[in-house]
Amino acid sequence: MILVMTTSHDRPVPRDPVTILRPRRGLTRFLETIGARWAGSTAVEELQDTIWRLREITERYRSAIEASGDVILRADASRRIVFANENFTATFGIAETGVLGRSLDRVITDLAVVPPPNLDPWLLSDHVSGALSDRELSTRDGPRWFMGREIEVAERLGDTAVIQVVLRDVTERHAMESELRRARDLAEAASAAKSRFLALASHEIRTPLNGILGMADLLLASGLTSEQATYARAVRTSGAALLSIVDDVLDLGKIEAGRLELQPDDASIEAVVEDVVELLAPRAQARGIELAGYVAADVPRRLIFDTVRLRQVLINLAGNGIKFTERGGVAINATLKARTKEHCVVTFDVTDTGIGIARQDAERIFTEYEQGENGTTRRYAGTGLGLAISRAIVRRMQGELEVQSEFGKGSTFAFSVLMPNPTYPEIVARSDPAELIGRHILIVSPAEIEPPLLVRRVHDFGGTALLVTNPSEARAALSARSYDAMLVDQTGVADAAETLVAIGLDQRPPAAVLVAPSDRGTLELMRHVGFSGYLVKPVRAQSIAKVIFALVEGRPIAADALDVRVPVAPRRLEGRKLKILVADDNPINVLLTRAMLESRGHRVTTAEDGRQAVDVFTAASGDMTFDVVLMDLHMPTLDGYVAIRAIRAANQSPRPLILALTADVTAETERATRAAGADGRLIKPIDADALDALLGEVPSAALRA
Ligand code: ADP
Repeated sequence: MILVMTTSHDRPVPRDPVTILRPRRGLTRFLETIGARWAGSTAVEELQDTIWRLREITERYRSAIEASGDVILRADASRRIVFANENFTATFGIAETGVLGRSLDRVITDLAVVPPPNLDPWLLSDHVSGALSDRELSTRDGPRWFMGREIEVAERLGDTAVIQVVLRDVTERHAMESELRRARDLAEAASAAKSRFLALASHEIRTPLNGILGMADLLLASGLTSEQATYARAVRTSGAALLSIVDDVLDLGKIEAGRLELQPDDASIEAVVEDVVELLAPRAQARGIELAGYVAADVPRRLIFDTVRLRQVLINLAGNGIKFTERGGVAINATLKARTKEHCVVTFDVTDTGIGIARQDAERIFTEYEQGENGTTRRYAGTGLGLAISRAIVRRMQGELEVQSEFGKGSTFAFSVLMPNPTYPEIVARSDPAELIGRHILIVSPAEIEPPLLVRRVHDFGGTALLVTNPSEARAALSARSYDAMLVDQTGVADAAETLVAIGLDQRPPAAVLVAPSDRGTLELMRHVGFSGYLVKPVRAQSIAKVIFALVEGRPIAADALDVRVPVAPRRLEGRKLKILVADDNPINVLLTRAMLESRGHRVTTAEDGRQAVDVFTAASGDMTFDVVLMDLHMPTLDGYVAIRAIRAANQSPRPLILALTADVTAETERATRAAGADGRLIKPIDADALDALLGEVPSAALRA
């Protein structure tokens, strides 16, 4: 006995506190009994000490466990409960004796607020990790949530393993989590609803707006007095401004809904940059500032990218540049940053000499509806959406749009994007003709933006260029060395003609004059004083090459080298009177389309919906069969897709050209219309050139017969 007791005494306190609770309670009682019988001896006193110590330890562990508030159940290998702590009784109002020997899983199943149909698989489900999903159980205080944990404890009862389940009350955490979840779901639903509303509202606004723009065009073409024309133009300008805002809002909706899709294709960066420059040049010239573009010679001629979106970003940035610049101008540059066999990284930067951006505003302006100037007096129009949209597009292209700016001095917005090379290798490298090797060009201009870019162009062609700002510097330069050609800027240089005369014939290399489109009237005079050619600003890469090459070689300048930007007269499609069926449920659109087509000499029949379109089409025969069908997509009774299918199914010969009419520019709509049988689509508002181009392809039924 003593031996047993000593062993017991020497034994280390078990590491798992709960094992102390039951087995040791039996042991202490046993020791107490022995102690009472052997009272008085030293051994017994020692023994009693041990008993007290053990009792103390036991009590300490027990109270610690109960104070944690956790419910603890233990079961043997056959999952029969062998122990339940006091918290179990306190929480569920069931005495330990009420559950001893019962199935652990059954007891918990019975406690579940929503009892599962079979034995609760909760405890049985995840023994490996030990973690159990939260569960709602009926307690004395009503339903509460518990987090469960089941482990097999190291301590053994006889030879069998002990399973221990700890249940922790997590009702508060649970309530907070479900509150957060609810708030998130609400926010998501609200955001989705907002995006849907924006898309719908913008679409609904776009349709009548297109009507307004089209009608203003018709009005302008109808022989108005100059006063009336001014009003009609104002309607047109305001309508166009509103349309661009609506487009921005639509884009923003797409971006927020994560539906901004790129449509990369094999295209030319130079063409995009020149396009943007050409489009915005009148705006810059109207403000008396410069706009110029430059694409470095090592940027490949063709790369794979989404032209529409790149154009949009550059127009936004350069448009802002023009808006916020009073003197100087805006330059758009594209340079090659890196290149592998598969890809190129191209850096675009748009630099202006405008008002600049205060350091504290530099990040904020990229947020939607944010503008630099936050006062009540707004000097600059705008919605604050352009930069947010541009940044989102650039991010979609895997780049980042950033700004560097000095307040009062100007800003540079820049981004780099990765563009795959086209798969055919021969056109990847852009080889500019190095026709200016060994040639020296003198450029006379006080302007800040375009002339430095002209210098870079001359370098790209293998030559060298010196830029001077006035006639006396030009004279000094010419007496210092000989030049093969010179370009004299008419703007700013008091008078280009005078400059040329002042330099003197004997010293003078062949020269061309740089003119603004508004200075075209002086060209005759310029030729007279000795300029052999001219370049209209902003100068296109192709034109400058042709003009300078001709100058240095003393050849006459070919007419196609010159930037002739006269408005193209409306094309007359003489002899191609087509029979066209227009199906659209919007009477204003019908009126517009009809006017556009009839002014081109075509014969137009209209239908108000898809059903009528199919009926009219199939009823037409002989001379009256239609060459072309313009089909709106969203119409009552029968939508455009179904109507197109029905018309195709009629199998008319000769096959009519079917064009879908839609304001939706997405690739999905394009695919869907083609799948229905359309040959193409016309984007509303209908662009006259696009219409002519598409109709130009169609021989009329009479010609085909
Ligand atoms: P919007 O021009 O329609 O107001 P943006 O998002 O394009 O909207 O620009 C947001 C703001 O950023 C502008 O209102 C302006 O304060 C500032 N900003 C943008 N570009 C320039 C620039 N080139 N120079 C100075 N400020 C600019």
